[in-house]
Amino acid sequence: MKSSPRVTAVVLCAGMGSRAGLGYNKVLYPVGNLSVGAFAAKKFDDYSLVVVCSQADEDILRAEIGRDDALFVRGGNTRSDSVRAALNAITDADVVIIHDGARPYIRSEVVKKSVESALVYGSGVVGVRSVNAMRRLNADGSSVAVDRGELFTVQTPQTFRYGEIKRAYKVVQGSFADDAEVYERAGFTVHLVEGDADNVKLTTPADFAGLNGAYRIGYGYDVHKLVENRKLVLCGVTIDYPLGLLGHSDADAPVHALMDALLSAAGLPDIGVLFPDTDERYAGADSVKLLENVCSRLSGFEIVNASICIMAQKPKLASIIPVMRDKLSAVLGIERDRLNVSATTTEGLGVVGEGKGIASAAEVLLKIK
Ligand code: MG
Repeated sequence: MKSSPRVTAVVLCAGMGSRAGLGYNKVLYPVGNLSVGAFAAKKFDDYSLVVVCSQADEDILRAEIGRDDALFVRGGNTRSDSVRAALNAITDADVVIIHDGARPYIRSEVVKKSVESALVYGSGVVGVRSVNAMRRLNADGSSVAVDRGELFTVQTPQTFRYGEIKRAYKVVQGSFADDAEVYERAGFTVHLVEGDADNVKLTTPADFAGLNGAYRIGYGYDVHKLVENRKLVLCGVTIDYPLGLLGHSDADAPVHALMDALLSAAGLPDIGVLFPDTDERYAGADSVKLLENVCSRLSGFEIVNASICIMAQKPKLASIIPVMRDKLSAVLGIERDRLNVSATTTEGLGVVGEGKGIASAAEVLLKIK
């Protein structure tokens, strides 16, 4: 029986990643309860593991990865030098997987495919096809179409027969963008393995925004009583109806729910605290003006989307919803398709169903800027 191949994964965590603008090694950025580098390294639990990192980052990575058998190696000045150091530290392997610590989203199926390719062909370098049309830029500024079917964007893992990649790094000196180039320069043939676009390399500040706790959702709810001799205002739109909602302000329940959702997501006090109904300034207030006030408090956030549900037995609101969306999306300063309003009855049940009041709920998603 053939013994199973000895496979070692090298995870590169030694770069500073200065383009990420974090002020510290980007592989230490938290994703959930792990750093990016540990998150990436744990994708290789089925293999022997070498982590290339600085002395300063070793303790945290070692603790998070939690493998007694993992080898920690100091990096060099360049990526190529770091890989050389890792390859020299490996004593016995058939195949070596080389992976960037800043690519935490690699899937184990793709890793397996690259290992299988390396066992058969000597190499298995992960790449993805371009979804964009591609052009080659000429020196004079003109450009020419390139068949994108022939082009791959190269990622990691890049997996090789150990003896071959070790020899390649020995005979090819200098610094290169990836291992495939070193392998090729040493005279070997690079085989591509198709990966997926999710396996991004976290590089710029935008790549880190939204990774971890950078979004906040918020929920708000409100209900007002329907009475005679009041205007019915919903989402800032005055609706022709014999009854209106009773309240200190114009009692626009969906806007009140929306404001509370925004404030809640932003970690701010609710509208009862900000605009108390004991304050005469808010008597008969236009709730849309209050919403503008709330928006002025959200300078640290971007509104991703807002969703409002109006619960009313009557009147029918379907034809007015587009007007409501136009009005409120303009106030929030977002595209219309990011703010939606739905309306429902409660099938004659409860306060709403009996026509005694109108209720509203809202949810929002904020992104921390
Ligand atoms: Mg209210």
